[in-house]
Formats: sequence, structure tokens, C-alpha cells
Amino acid sequence: MERSTLIRLTGIAILFLSIVIGSWVLFGPRSVQHIDIPDQAFHRFPGVSGPDHATVVPPRVPTAWTTYGEGSKSRLAILLTDPDSSWLGLAHGLKSIGVPFRITRDVREALTHQVVLVYPVISGKVLSSEALQALAEFPKAGGTLIGLQVLGGGLNETFGFREALVSRQRYDLQLAESDPLLAELTDPRERHLRVGIRAKGIEVMGTYGYTESVAPLARFDDGTAAITQKTYGQGRAYAIGLDLGFLLLKGYNNRGEELVQTYDNQFDPTLDVWLRLLKSIYRTAHTGAVTLGTVPFGKSLSVMLTHDVDFTQSIKNAVDYAEYEKSQGLVGTYFIQVKYIRDYNDDIFFNDEGVRYLARLADLGMELGSHTIAHSKVFNRFPMGTGREAYPAYTPFVKDRTTAFNASILGELRVSKFLIDHFSGQSIVSFRPGELSNPFSLPQALLATGYQYSSTATANNSLTHLPYQLNYDRLTDSEVELFEFPVTIEDEELPKMGDRLPEALEVARQISRYGGVMVVLIHPNILDHKLAFEKGFVEGVRFYAWFGSVGEFGRWWAARNQVQLDVAQGERGGTVTITTPESVAGLTLEVPGGWRFDPSRLSMKGIEQRGTFVTLPELKGVHTLTFATGSR
Ligand SMILES: [Zn+2]
Repeated sequence: MERSTLIRLTGIAILFLSIVIGSWVLFGPRSVQHIDIPDQAFHRFPGVSGPDHATVVPPRVPTAWTTYGEGSKSRLAILLTDPDSSWLGLAHGLKSIGVPFRITRDVREALTHQVVLVYPVISGKVLSSEALQALAEFPKAGGTLIGLQVLGGGLNETFGFREALVSRQRYDLQLAESDPLLAELTDPRERHLRVGIRAKGIEVMGTYGYTESVAPLARFDDGTAAITQKTYGQGRAYAIGLDLGFLLLKGYNNRGEELVQTYDNQFDPTLDVWLRLLKSIYRTAHTGAVTLGTVPFGKSLSVMLTHDVDFTQSIKNAVDYAEYEKSQGLVGTYFIQVKYIRDYNDDIFFNDEGVRYLARLADLGMELGSHTIAHSKVFNRFPMGTGREAYPAYTPFVKDRTTAFNASILGELRVSKFLIDHFSGQSIVSFRPGELSNPFSLPQALLATGYQYSSTATANNSLTHLPYQLNYDRLTDSEVELFEFPVTIEDEELPKMGDRLPEALEVARQISRYGGVMVVLIHPNILDHKLAFEKGFVEGVRFYAWFGSVGEFGRWWAARNQVQLDVAQGERGGTVTITTPESVAGLTLEVPGGWRFDPSRLSMKGIEQRGTFVTLPELKGVHTLTFATGSR
């Protein structure tokens, strides 16, 4: 067995073992145990009961790599050398950053593309000698070859190194001082990347350090090359010394404890740098490369103003925030705790008065979402439940920080949605748990109960400032049609939020340099400095940001996720074919420098070009855009 595979499998085995042990230790019978709730601790809405239907959690269906098997030669080709790998992390990462790609297992097919990324490993164990020979010839013929974990197969010279040395003792890597590929990576937190944090004392993923590499793009802390670079005229070869798909999934699955540095409020672009580097290599290598922008309508930053309503006074104050947002033409997302039971946490506020405020928020055009019923710190340890939980019989009761009775994941999700839908007239699709408590089974539970968008993780925990798609059980192999928009800035850290506006604006500026998302969380428990912060923040980013609710941005992002982008390059310019199964407005293309949209070839109105950025009007179906180079 390959050492890399061994390392990966050992890692996965440890992961599973810790899940099993964790479940055994943590799943007490306490959340299942039933206790009776006295009448005075329960708010009864006369005549209201439901939901009536049963929820069935879908089975786990591994995603086939062939899902991503289609596409023209203009795309980056992933040559998949082992389907039993973390390729889904790589696929989700490339979709997020907007690099069009396709996956193939056929070497000859891959080599018809201009840019080929071999994943997860290059070695004589997974590739025939003919295949290895063809890969070696590829950069010499002008192609760009990116090899992940190049372990052998006689390609060391092709990538420009002597040996690949495995280690679990590498924690950091540093980008090279100057290289055109790295020109946009200017922040110190982009130049210095982590594999792990030594002081945490937790085992980190194995990496391969390449020896005797001339002018590598990055070096590990032990001096070996993390990314080699070798030039052949137009051709290029890069060897990357770690399993990038596995690293991406550590962030997306919130399982990267050994390399998470901060909880929130900070700029931490760990995963984003890797994706931007791949994008940079693709755009540099491919003369007709067109990539898909990350922010609606060509703006630089996507901002979502969100509010967790989880305190008696908050539901009333929420209306003040909503009135301000409406006055600015903005739509905020209000995650409502459906608090119809008095317990350890708080008094009842989802009552007759509470639902009047809820209706007012809906009238003001705000998006409503669920913030659970129990708001329990140990939501992540709740049992899945029966899928038949319904109001008023469902009576979750929080006894203390670590104990809740009568509670289940499905109960929290489906009963809260039922009541918010009932009293708001909306059909809610967005969810954020209390205390950001995140059960492993949450993705499929959300899907089963009718949610589409989650804001459960923090950006710093996820190691990214871009949205991402979720996987079943937060594992490696089965994607779920659900997207995560992690919290960037929140109001509970000290100093108080009103004193942190300059820092927040600086984080926004850093993220806007590559089109990330900024999810702001403000609890409307008070107005004062928090509302002042919101106003200051809106003014500070308004000139470059796009604003929307989680639902609005989620719909845009989900539609973007289905976009197919292919380019036919001509002598003077190229033709871009964009396929959008869902109707969506404000997609942005980043075209090669010098390409100019030729409106005479299209009846579509409303296409705008600024430099290399082309913003598209509402589209659905297949459209072809022609671009010309040179002067008109
Ligand atoms: Zn909360």
C-alpha cells in the first residue's frame, strides 16, 4: 500500500474511531429521557398543531466522480488516480473559487486539456509506465501539469526534485518571495500557511517535502519544498506535497482542530490561498481561461447581515434593526429561537406577543430562519429523532448547559420551521443552531426537513472566507444539496462590538480582495453600540459590497453552483458557452486580459464589461458569448 494512502486511511480510521468513542461517551440517554413540562412553563397556541407529515432522512449515497466527468477541453482536467480519496473536497473547492474543471480517470483524455491536475497521488502503483511516460512528456509539449503527492513513478525530474520525504512533523509553509503566480497573495496570513499548530500537540496530516528543488513556490518549515515549479518553455510542472482535497475537507467538515487558530472575527484564508493559487496557475497556463466570479453583480464582497433572536428582549429589538435595514434597502436574516417553553435558558418569548413581532419582521421584507427551539449547547449530541415530532407534543427542555430533555435534532428542525412558517407566512430555508452547536448529521437532517442554507460554522473554524457545499455526516464521500455560509464577525467577543468597527472593516477589505463572503452576526438583545456598529459597517463597505439575506445569497450561490462554463478559443478571442439550469442574475465571468465582449453577436441586453470582469443579466439555459481581442 502507498504510504500516502496508508497515512490517509490511518487518519480516516482514527477519525471514525474517535466518532464511535465520542458517540459512546457523549450520547447519554438524557436528551431522549422524557420529563413532563408543567402547563405554566409552556405556551399553547390554540388550534395550532403540526407538522403533520413525517420526515425521512435520506440514506447516504456516495457521490460518483462521474458527476463531474463532463466538460470541454478548456477546463482544468483532474486526472483521478484513486477514486477512494478526498477528491470531493477538491471538486467543492474548485467550484467555490470558480475554476471550471472536469474529472477523468483516462490519462490520454486528461492530456487533451491544457492544464492537468493529478490527484491524489502520482506513483508507479496507480499509473502504468505508459501513463507516467505520457505525463512526463506533457509539460515538455507546452502543457501545465500539477501533481499532488508526487511519490515516484520516475517523475521526480519532471517536477524538478530529488526525493519526496514523508513526515507528520511539518506544521507551516512559507510562499516564495516573488513569483507572478503569487502576486495577489500579499497579506502575511496569505504568505504563511498552516498544516497544523505545533503547540496544540495534535497529530497533523502527513506531508511530502521535496528535496533539491530549484526555486520552489513554497517551502515547509523544515526547508523542503512544499510546491515545486519547473519550466519548459511554455510548459510548467508543479508538485504539491500534500493532499489538498483532504485539507479542504478538514475545513469544510469542521474537522481541522489541529490547524484552527481562532474562532471568529479574524481573517484566516488558509484554504482560500490554495484555491487562489490553483486559479492563478489555471489562468496563467490557459490563454483562453474564463473563470466564474464569486460575488453577485461583479461586486467584491458578499455581505449578509444576520441576527440571532434568542433572548426575551431580542424579538422586540429585532424590529428596530429591521426598520433600519429596510430604510437602507437591505434585507437581513433573522434566526428565530422558537421559545415556547420556559427553562434554564430563558423565559418564553415565542408567544402571542412574540409572533406579532415575527409578523412585523416578515412585513418589513426580512428573511426569517430557524435558531432551534431548545437553543442547547449540546444540540450536537441530540439523537436524530423519529421524524414525527410535532407541536404541541414536542417539548424540549433545557436543564443546564449540558443537559436537555425530550429533545431531538429532527424535532428542533421541523417543529421550529413549522411554527415560523405558520406565523410568518414564509417558507423558511435558512438555519443556524444555538451556540453554533453542530451535529455531524446536521447536513442530511437539514435537507430532510426542507432547509437549503446553513450558517452553522464560523469562517475561522472552516479555514475559509468562501461558501462551501456540505457532505453527509460531514464526511468525505457524499455531497448534500446544501450550502454553508460561515459566520465571519460576531458580537460576543470583547471588546464590545461597537469598539471593533475598524477591525471588522479591515477584515472585510481583506476578504473583498478575492470576493469572499462576510456573514455578520448581531444579537439584537440591545440596540446601542451594536446597531451603531451595523450602521457603520454598512456605510464602510457599501461602495464595494453586495448585500443580501442568507436566502437571497443562498439561491444565487446554489444556482451558480450548477453553472457549466466552456470556452472555444479562436485566433482572435473566444466563444464562451455558459449553461445555467436555474434562472440567475448577476453572474460574473473573469475573461482573459484583452478580451472584449462583442454585443453584435448576441441579442441579450444588459451585459456589462469592466476590464476582465463581465457581469451577466438574468440568464437561464444555454447562452453563447463572443469575445474579440485587439482593437475594434
Ligand atoms: Zn443563539
